[in-house]
Amino acid sequence: MAPAIRQLKKAARIILIGAPGVGKGTQTERLLSRFPELASISSGDLLRENVRRKTSLGLKAEAAMQSGNLVPDSMILDLISSEFKSKGWLSPASTSSISSSASFILDGFPRTATQASSLDTIVPVNFVVHLVTPPSVILSRIASRWVHEPSGRVYNTDFHVPKVPGKDDITGEPLVQRDDDSIETWKQRLHKFEETSKALIEHYQRKGCLYRVEGDSSDEISPQLFAQIERQFC
Ligand code: AMP
Repeated sequence: MAPAIRQLKKAARIILIGAPGVGKGTQTERLLSRFPELASISSGDLLRENVRRKTSLGLKAEAAMQSGNLVPDSMILDLISSEFKSKGWLSPASTSSISSSASFILDGFPRTATQASSLDTIVPVNFVVHLVTPPSVILSRIASRWVHEPSGRVYNTDFHVPKVPGKDDITGEPLVQRDDDSIETWKQRLHKFEETSKALIEHYQRKGCLYRVEGDSSDEISPQLFAQIERQFC
């Protein structure tokens, strides 16, 4: 059966905020399929593209990215506004007028309250989603994750079980757990997210455009998210 498609009657400018492992990528993909007018812009992808092309911005950003730190705000803002311009959403001469029909999801940006304030001056974001899954649920999902390293195929011993325990379905080769999937590493990542997202969430709460959606899995979250967007924008 073809997936249901809905048309947006009003421009939706969406930001997803959520801890690592909460399924932001999954929700973004599902939103793009359901609402074809949406486009998605990922700051991480834009940065990686600049690093790959060895642009001057890419060369400056690379060290911060490799050490797991944030790239300076001014750099990320330049990157995002030039992406808006190249999509024709922002007139080249202006940094303050977004095309009224542009609908999009921003992924990975803004990451800080300072970035959010700067974004307010160029793009009137009108729907900010805070995706919430209890940390204990995220951690148990990570603990049951196994990968086939050569192909990147991912299994989960709770809900996407390999046909033969411990073996890749296609090649029969052994599955492993990634070092960076260790529970300690994930606890640190979740803690860091709690710390850095607080001011960002408060920023949008004050603006009255924050919508909180909670669920233990992406399948629990998607229908709530769809329903809210349809109420507001369709
Ligand atoms: P991501 O793919 O979103 O995890 O981003 C990969 C890396 O790019 C991050 O670890 C940061 O170094 C950098 N980055 C991405 N988005 C931002 C942002 N909004 N502000 C600062 N740095 C960012």
